[in-house]
Amino acid sequence: MIPFNKPFVSGQELFNLKSVVVQGNKFCGDGSFTKKCHTLLEEQTGALKALLTTSCTHALEMSALLIGIEPGDEVIMPSFTFVSSANAFVLRGAKIVFVDIRPDTMNINEKLIEAAITSKTKAIVPVHYAGVGCDMDVIMDLAIKYDLFVIEDAAQCVGAKWKGKPLGTIGHFGTLSFHETKNLHCGEGGALLINDEKFLERSEVIREKGTNRSKFLRGQVDKYSWMDIGSSYLPSELNAAFLVPQLEQLETITSHRLGLWNAYFNNLSFLEKNGNLELPRALKKFEHNGHIFYIKCNNGETRDELIKYLKQHDIQSVFHYVPLHSASAGMIFGEFNGKDVFTTIESERLIRLPMFYDLNIDQVQNICSKIHDFYEN
Ligand SMILES: *Cc1c(COP(=O)(O)O)cnc(C)c1O
Repeated sequence: MIPFNKPFVSGQELFNLKSVVVQGNKFCGDGSFTKKCHTLLEEQTGALKALLTTSCTHALEMSALLIGIEPGDEVIMPSFTFVSSANAFVLRGAKIVFVDIRPDTMNINEKLIEAAITSKTKAIVPVHYAGVGCDMDVIMDLAIKYDLFVIEDAAQCVGAKWKGKPLGTIGHFGTLSFHETKNLHCGEGGALLINDEKFLERSEVIREKGTNRSKFLRGQVDKYSWMDIGSSYLPSELNAAFLVPQLEQLETITSHRLGLWNAYFNNLSFLEKNGNLELPRALKKFEHNGHIFYIKCNNGETRDELIKYLKQHDIQSVFHYVPLHSASAGMIFGEFNGKDVFTTIESERLIRLPMFYDLNIDQVQNICSKIHDFYEN
């Protein structure tokens, strides 16, 4: 059986976990391993500040608190995304305004955003699907023109860039995920990248239960107290200890995944020429990170049959997302602006093939030959 995903393990994790246990005096967050993660992330991305969080979902929630989302505010994002992109803002009372995607990248169509902006719009949340950047030039221009915040959902983007800039460092905030399904991970985890100085102080407070404990730990104040609203968004040292060697392997992980990605692409291009399916051709122009290899079948029915066929041959493939505007919560908390030309149709024919560090080229070739067989029969 070739699974869809197998979480990456570098081999160094147990050593680090053991050192937390043996030292035995610091298990909660913001110890030396957390600091090491912050340094690595800031070096790798160039973000002004990186803060580890318990998940990307929580990094998104922090950004909703930081920009002061209030009931009735509107937040613009694609409907083709994971629930957390929307939920983080719905929790603060926002209404979600969904905008259609572009079929070539599956990202929000930047040309349709301006028409969705109203006097209530507070933020835009570009989701960089598969580690491929949305058109951030257009989005940042709109943010300046209408005085909006931009929170990049860069959950899938560790190691990926847009026009040479690491994703998550272009908007006011970027949010990363270190869930085990992502390129590198610590089981559950994430990070908030802060790219605007004016949010630095408050982000530390919000992350530490609304207290100035971070300042206290640095000896900048002699006691700490309740300063603001906040929650518990910092992960334990155990998670950080696990994450350090993973972050250190970023380049190796990314280049290996890109090799697998290209092997899939080359192997399946014959089927694309035949008109059997579509490859993510546009992604070739981007500095993506090989997070997802997807193909698009000609319709949803064929997609479901192909998933079944691969399963019969011990290959696990998956699809996503059920567009948020058509989900029961999405109908309550959101609204689609303009026409759904591509969101539903394109999501229904998308299939994700196995992609993980331990996958090898032989297995990729085996998977591709099964897909060739499927189309021959
Ligand atoms: C994985 C993912 C998330 C959620 O990440 P968690 O760390 O599991 O909270 C959010 N948005 C997108 C686009 C994702 O792919």
